[in-house]
Amino acid sequence: MVFFMYDVIIIGAGVIGGSIFRELTKYDLSILVLDKENDVAMGATKANSAIIHAGFDPAPGSFMAKYNVSGNKMYKNSCAELDVPYENNEALVIAFNTKDIKTLENLYKNGKKNGVVGLEILGKDKTLQLEPNLSTSIIASLRAKTSSIVCPFQYTIALFENGIANGGELLLNSEVTKIEKYKETFLVYTGFGKVFQTKFLVNAAGIYADKIHNMVLQKSFSISPRLGEYIIFNKSQGSLFSRTIFQCPTLRGKGVLVSKTVHGNLFIGPDAEDVVDKDDVSTKNSGLTHIFRAAKNTSNKIDFNETLKNYAGIRAIPSTGDFIIKNYTKLKNFIDVAGIKSPGLACAPAIAEDVVLILKESGLTLNKKSNFNPIRKRINFLELSNKEKHNLVKNNKAFGKIICSCEKITEGEILDAIDRSFSVPTICGIKRRCRAGMGKCQGSYCTPQIIDIISRRCNLDKREICFDSADSTILLEKIR
Ligand SMILES: Cc1cc2nc3c(=O)[nH]c(=O)nc-3n(C[C@H](O)[C@H](O)[C@H](O)COP(=O)(O)OP(=O)(O)OC[C@H]3O[C@@H](n4cnc5c(N)ncnc54)[C@H](O)[C@@H]3O)c2cc1C
Repeated sequence: MVFFMYDVIIIGAGVIGGSIFRELTKYDLSILVLDKENDVAMGATKANSAIIHAGFDPAPGSFMAKYNVSGNKMYKNSCAELDVPYENNEALVIAFNTKDIKTLENLYKNGKKNGVVGLEILGKDKTLQLEPNLSTSIIASLRAKTSSIVCPFQYTIALFENGIANGGELLLNSEVTKIEKYKETFLVYTGFGKVFQTKFLVNAAGIYADKIHNMVLQKSFSISPRLGEYIIFNKSQGSLFSRTIFQCPTLRGKGVLVSKTVHGNLFIGPDAEDVVDKDDVSTKNSGLTHIFRAAKNTSNKIDFNETLKNYAGIRAIPSTGDFIIKNYTKLKNFIDVAGIKSPGLACAPAIAEDVVLILKESGLTLNKKSNFNPIRKRINFLELSNKEKHNLVKNNKAFGKIICSCEKITEGEILDAIDRSFSVPTICGIKRRCRAGMGKCQGSYCTPQIIDIISRRCNLDKREICFDSADSTILLEKIR
């Protein structure tokens, strides 16, 4: 059965699909995003280094270089519009020996060619003055003043909230299983027998973008998984460094980094291991040991007793070496936005603008909406003034009740996160939206209360509530 006809369907609700989605909602169009998972940002967008790179790393002339430098400049404004935590905290790439110094010089030249501003090579003393907790074995650094940090999943959630508020549609739990060309349109088949028709189709399916491409065109590239593992620390470690500290990059990645997060934690990682399984994000002893040792070289001040959690993400490595962002002479209304490996997060807003241009060149009519509202707001109780807190609690008692005592998150914020959820809320979905359960106890104390709140607000049996993905229910039986 064919459902409504859309102007544009986007496959994939990561930061790339979300950025294109929001950009398109500025125009008078019917837009639908389909994702196989039960929330947005469940792929690479959920687990990465969260750095809005300056752009000194990608090869000059590549898509990665072009979009990194322009995307970096767009983040401050889009995070302000979307009320998402962002900090221009700068970065240092550190050198331990003369070979590393050569690398810094090459990165500096590369960055200049890419149009990166605010780069300088610093000696040991100046570097240690900026970051006194660095190892005294370092001998120089490359400073990148435009490097920033963001919360990638909160950013993506906000992109979707804003896109939906501006008339776009999102359908989760909808894996695209088949695509057929039908006259000048596409029929997009999803699980459970639903079929959607669209004039234009955008492939932003991350690690599975090759599979989607092959549904409509001859195979012309492949996407391979490369695992990256991390260790995150308590906030007690978050002030060790102001800047993001990179070791020198290798052929396989940007090098192990140590950085604070926008929420005040510290994290280290990633490693870079080519793997076979595109979905396996379990961490391994070998990878964690590698990043642990590498981070110890960066600084011996990190207290490893303060470890909070390990996690891993899968990079989508394209066989072409660069992002694949194009339509095809044979199939102008199908656009691949594939192989978006790092620095894809940093590139996302710039990629979105270009994809809209490609769609326009392919025949999509773009009429600006007069009522597009770029602003999305959320309630963060801790950030409010005392007067604002007082008024909020006076009007709604739920803001006077702390549920997550580690992160100081109120019941009001949890209810707000539930009401904003795109589908049935999950424990981790609530955590990603308002940070309840992100703290030192990792939800040991507040999870039962959050289950209770979801159950009441959504009128759900507690046994139906999932931890994260659609098959992760946590309560099996009622025993009393
Ligand atoms: C370890 C690591 C570190 C990184 N560090 C950084 C960094 O610091 N800075 C930076 O700029 N970039 C970084 N990146 C890269 C960045 O995370 C990615 O470029 C970005 O998240 C890619 O977004 P995406 O939307 O293309 O993919 P994803 O976030 O993976 O989204 C793709 C979506 O498609 C959906 N999907 C797949 N198949 C189907 C289907 N058949 N039907 C429906 N839906 C489907 C998936 O469920 C998923 O939600 C890093 C990546 C990793 C893994």
